[in-house]
Amino acid sequence: MNEERLQKVIAAAGVASRRHAEVLIQTGHVQVNGQVVTTLGTKVTPKDEVMVDGVPLGKEPLKHFLFYKPRGVITAVSDPKHRRVVTDYFEDETVRLYPVGRLDYDTSGLLLMTNDGEFANMLMHPSFGIDKKYVAKVQGIPTRLDLLPLKQGLTLDGKHLAPAKYNILSSDKKKQTAIVELTIHQGINHQVKNMFKAVGFPVIKLAREQYGALTLQGLQSGDYRPLKPAEIADLK
Ligand code: URA
Repeated sequence: MNEERLQKVIAAAGVASRRHAEVLIQTGHVQVNGQVVTTLGTKVTPKDEVMVDGVPLGKEPLKHFLFYKPRGVITAVSDPKHRRVVTDYFEDETVRLYPVGRLDYDTSGLLLMTNDGEFANMLMHPSFGIDKKYVAKVQGIPTRLDLLPLKQGLTLDGKHLAPAKYNILSSDKKKQTAIVELTIHQGINHQVKNMFKAVGFPVIKLAREQYGALTLQGLQSGDYRPLKPAEIADLK
């Protein structure tokens, strides 16, 4: 018989991390075949009916959130060095969430969080080119001409980048910095920083302000809200 430890089965179903699954068991949230089980390491088989808070495994509702990621937070579900990670902001949620794509540790802004694997994979697939708008503070004051290569499509590390749209919003002559809006639809690691670096204007500060039609309107740094059904449908 295919026996597995209860906490492993709960974690594999995407309800909670292994550690959180142990807590759920010990605190009486888990039933096996209608009986509350609080003993860690209880073995179950696929024939056993496991329920967490009365919901059978595999029947958890799909959740989709729009999160305003603060700067200084890692886009991951855990960190071996115990630094703050994005899932720390979702401890009150009863499903195990993960981020859709990633923002750098020092980048703030709009990040989607979900437990819907199909939805996440679709959005992260390279062929799915949703527009993402970033606002960057850069070192130096570029002219439109300086940034033209971004629009024409750069080649970085042998990878051809799709043309981006940009808009120079303001500049500070004294500090020799500028604020530039950049819209891209790919999602290569450190893409925005590398693009600005390639044209000679390194990024000092970066924020993602828009993801498709979604914005951070009404949210403070560290806040999140559920996506509306129409917003989810719009992304698909
Ligand atoms: N591009 C970057 O360079 N960093 C991010 O966090 C997101 C896009």
